[in-house]
Amino acid sequence: MKPDWKELLFPRAADCLICGDPRQAEGKYCLCPRCRERLLSLRLRENVCPRCMGPLDGKGQCRFCRSESLKPMRAGYGAFRYAAEAKALVERLKYGFEDEAADALAAVMAQCFPAAEYDALVPVPLHRTRQRGRGANQAALLCDRVGPRAGLPVLDALQRVRNTRTQIRLNPAERQRNVRRAFAATMNVQGLRLLLVDDVRTTGATARACAEALLSAGAREVGILTATIASEGKR
Ligand SMILES: [Zn+2]
Ligand SMILES: [Zn+2]
Repeated sequence: MKPDWKELLFPRAADCLICGDPRQAEGKYCLCPRCRERLLSLRLRENVCPRCMGPLDGKGQCRFCRSESLKPMRAGYGAFRYAAEAKALVERLKYGFEDEAADALAAVMAQCFPAAEYDALVPVPLHRTRQRGRGANQAALLCDRVGPRAGLPVLDALQRVRNTRTQIRLNPAERQRNVRRAFAATMNVQGLRLLLVDDVRTTGATARACAEALLSAGAREVGILTATIASEGKR
């Protein structure tokens, strides 16, 4: 049977967010059992860097730590590899199914970092012009759901002070240049241990620029938590 594109793009509330198939009757999860199982197989648990949870390559090396892209940060955490079902959920977060997708990702994100070691969560900001173009800031959606689960407040402590070019076609060095000094703290963060929150960690360049802004505003420590971590430097 050919899938109806309208059903795929706009599944009824009872259908799986990823494949559009009807979910199980209890309706507790927004995914069908098959997508749920596949999603859980993408959890970052084995073969990940002990410092930043980046996926290790064939030589057992972490590309984030090798490139020092997370150097000013205390640690990094991520729920899923940026692939297949996890990538699909992140896309849903941006384009149309914000609440359900954010709930599904946040439930796992809240379990993958030591909440006692941080004082607050900080969403990576989206520039105002881009935020208008595509709805809510996905980082803020995730923060608002991870916060209560982890027992941490959410601080809107950062703003973009410069509209950066979209990162998709840039290599890692260009990304680093593109986002440098793009962020500034909006409040007093003196002495706080802050955990940045975003949907995807690709090169770590955005996270690093955010961390530098918070640290120069007096934050004691900064970490990064993302829903997904990409194995490759470019999407
Ligand atoms: Zn499904
Ligand atoms: Zn690492």
